[in-house]
Amino acid sequence: MKYAVAAPAQPSLPILGSEQRFPIRRVFCIGRNYAEHAREMGAGVDKGTPMFFCKPADAVVGDGDDVPYPSATGDLHHEVEMVVALKAGGRDIPAEQAANLVFGYGVGLDLTRRDLQAQAKAKGHPWDVAKAFDHSAPVSALRAATEVSVDADTVLRLHVNGDLRQQASLGEMVHGVPQIIAALSRLFELKAGDLVFTGTPAGVAALQRGDRFHAELVGVAELNGRIV
Ligand code: MN
Repeated sequence: MKYAVAAPAQPSLPILGSEQRFPIRRVFCIGRNYAEHAREMGAGVDKGTPMFFCKPADAVVGDGDDVPYPSATGDLHHEVEMVVALKAGGRDIPAEQAANLVFGYGVGLDLTRRDLQAQAKAKGHPWDVAKAFDHSAPVSALRAATEVSVDADTVLRLHVNGDLRQQASLGEMVHGVPQIIAALSRLFELKAGDLVFTGTPAGVAALQRGDRFHAELVGVAELNGRIV
């Protein structure tokens, strides 16, 4: 194949304990999946219909990488989230079969231009400029599901400059991983390489240049980085 311009690189993530890497196809994100966070954003929780948005695969930034403070915002927010990586896909997947699609788990930040998101909400505009900007998705190395299990007691947390900013257990999610995968597969054909950000707990707040973040899915994955 000869392309007319330089072909884009394949984004990927390291896999803990492996020489292989995980190739990223798409990045799906669920909104308002922890009740306390939905409340702090002035929204309610819809237990019936999950709300989704996407980020581009090349917005993913790896563990230890610097994150440039984005243009066009004065209010960059952190949202720490469990990230689920898929090894297979399909359409209309029943929740009972969703676990068969999971390759592994990581932890990530759904970085958000909160000021632009508020403007988009007010005007009924799409969220892309608030959510899908360059470097908006730092993600840890992935841990294979064959090596670790996550459950309702698994803790998700974020420290910024050593201060605890966000903490919750996965049992606080409104829609669990099987429900999220089932709902996404009714909207999109899922495939191997897809990442799913599973929502953030309460405590979202601003990041400044120079801040160092340390995100953990305790016992599973860790992510470190710095805003520059
Ligand atoms: Mn989020």
